[in-house]
Amino acid sequence: MSDVIRLRDLTVAYNRHPAVHHVSGTFASGSLTAIAGPNGAGKSTLLKAIIGDLRPVSGRVEHGLAPTDFGYLPQAADINRRFPISVLETVLLGVWREAGAFGRIGRAQRMKALDALAAVGLDGFEGRSIGSLSAGQAQRALFARLLLQDAKVILLDEPFTAIDARTTRDLLDIVTRWGVEGRTVIAVLHDFEQVRSHFPHTLLLAREIVDWGATPEVMRPDNLMKARAMAERWEEDAAICAPAA
Ligand code: ADP
Ligand code: MG
Repeated sequence: MSDVIRLRDLTVAYNRHPAVHHVSGTFASGSLTAIAGPNGAGKSTLLKAIIGDLRPVSGRVEHGLAPTDFGYLPQAADINRRFPISVLETVLLGVWREAGAFGRIGRAQRMKALDALAAVGLDGFEGRSIGSLSAGQAQRALFARLLLQDAKVILLDEPFTAIDARTTRDLLDIVTRWGVEGRTVIAVLHDFEQVRSHFPHTLLLAREIVDWGATPEVMRPDNLMKARAMAERWEEDAAICAPAA
């Protein structure tokens, strides 16, 4: 039960300009939820607030989870792939938090990392530098890292943007398996087909909630039009959020 994540009137701002505001709702334990919405809707901001990287200006995120219970795949733009490390080392970063920065990575963990690479179709890639991989292969490696991390809650920020169709299919299968295993998955997605076919729940966001619930209900044309209209109206430096009444 403590795996439930509750957002209570959550507002997150940058320099006092709210990026998302007054968001309330629940991610049930073991649920698969897509977050959809226009660019600048605050989707990435919301994920960062959920994992505790950003502090809300008001409201809160409630859960009974430890920091190591969260696996997080940032948006590609936030990942530095020029870091000169191997694919295997990249995957092993998934357990560094457990082992501690200077902890020893044991033989068992190396074996598990190799298993994770095999599970994402990267058998034999362990010695390659992460920067030498294609975008799709690199995303497979980052999913292997999530597999090794074995987190209860997995947050994915646009995991399939600019990723080839074959890789997307393979990685979506892993997401589905995570659901079967009872993990909670929250994924920012732009492809409505992926949302409809793989995520039973959707949060449609346009700085505030447009709708949040069962995917077929939320992804209705009127809601999608509403989200787009809200995005067209907003200004980047919009007024400071009024304190909740
Ligand atoms: P999305 O992921 O839905 O495209 P973001 O959460 O990245 O949206 O951004 C929401 C808003 O917050 C945007 O207006 C964006 O410019 C702004 N923003 C995002 N990150 C920062 C930051 N580090 N500093 C200032 N503003 C930011
Ligand atoms: Mg984003």
